[in-house]
Amino acid sequence: MPDHAIAPWGESRPREGCPVPSKGFRKVVLPSRYVQGRRAIDSIGSYAADLGSRPFVVAGRRAFAAVGSRMGASLEAAGVPMVGHDDSVTECTHAKIDSVRSRAEELKAGLVIGAGGGKAVDTAKAAADRASLPVITVPTQCATNADQMADAVIFTEEHQFVKDHYLERPPALVLVDTEVVGLAPVKYLVQGMGDAVASGVEKPAYAAAMRARGADQLAATAALEINMKCYDILMAHGAEAKRDSQRREITEALEAVIEAIKLMSGFGFGGGGCAPAHAIHNGLITMPGVKKKHGEIVAYGTLVQMALEDRSDGEILRLMQWCYEIGLPTSTADLGDIEASELPSAAERACNPSDTMSNMPFSVTPEMVMNAVARVDGLSHG
Ligand SMILES: [Zn+2]
Repeated sequence: MPDHAIAPWGESRPREGCPVPSKGFRKVVLPSRYVQGRRAIDSIGSYAADLGSRPFVVAGRRAFAAVGSRMGASLEAAGVPMVGHDDSVTECTHAKIDSVRSRAEELKAGLVIGAGGGKAVDTAKAAADRASLPVITVPTQCATNADQMADAVIFTEEHQFVKDHYLERPPALVLVDTEVVGLAPVKYLVQGMGDAVASGVEKPAYAAAMRARGADQLAATAALEINMKCYDILMAHGAEAKRDSQRREITEALEAVIEAIKLMSGFGFGGGGCAPAHAIHNGLITMPGVKKKHGEIVAYGTLVQMALEDRSDGEILRLMQWCYEIGLPTSTADLGDIEASELPSAAERACNPSDTMSNMPFSVTPEMVMNAVARVDGLSHG
């Protein structure tokens, strides 16, 4: 377990047997079932049959081409043939969600299956939610854990954020076929690890902050422990999993890392958990020269969060060493063509009171962010 600077319950661990004082509710929202394994897609029919009939499938074009016929065969064999599909999702917009919902309703679908990356599964989840139908999510890569989250992030056609839609019901099943996600282009695994590693650093900060201020909603200890375990698994097996994926071998290390990304990193969604690493991401992406993807920037944000928390060089360097091995950025120079003069406004944006920087047990100023960025950049030789 990493030596977290902030204990989950505040300043110090209570002695064994002491009750942990808290005022708020501990809330955990989870998918009803999670199934992960090789060729899991070939079993989707038997799971779907338990949940509803007349499944309607929502996907992106490439995802449907990759797994549509196998899903169709399994559904057919289980006596719940696909009633229709939409494989044209390119963005999760209100319009797309409504069109999927009306087609599913016209076809009297009893179940929605979303297959693909974040946009397709978010569209499927939101459409199913609006139609009061259960949803199965089938990820085809590892860059996101949207498949297990009980929300859908809605955008405009131009990929401008519109809103986070919280579902009435979380996914009924998350079906992860490790041959599909583990053998997808390795960049997705790298991005997924970068995003997931943040959970083991952000969640303890979030948990400490919420408990210290007696917030209404607290991180459950179960979710916190699983997020921290996720961090340990990524540290221990991440590099090996990446090599195995590149060699096109599904190994225990790769299975463990896929579970860490797909199940453990978002565990306990309802309790919240994002903190500075994501706020720093949100600041950095305002700089036009930043070229990296979400998970890559969040990994760098995690290093900056550790510096903000005044963790030791040794602890920051341990995560940095891991980032080198995985191929994740460790300095602002790694993020793209950054203009140093733009950093202060990015730091300002990261500290926007409506963002997750406020989920820290102490207040963070743009100057502190700038100092933390400078410290991380100074430690990096990447
Ligand atoms: Zn993220």
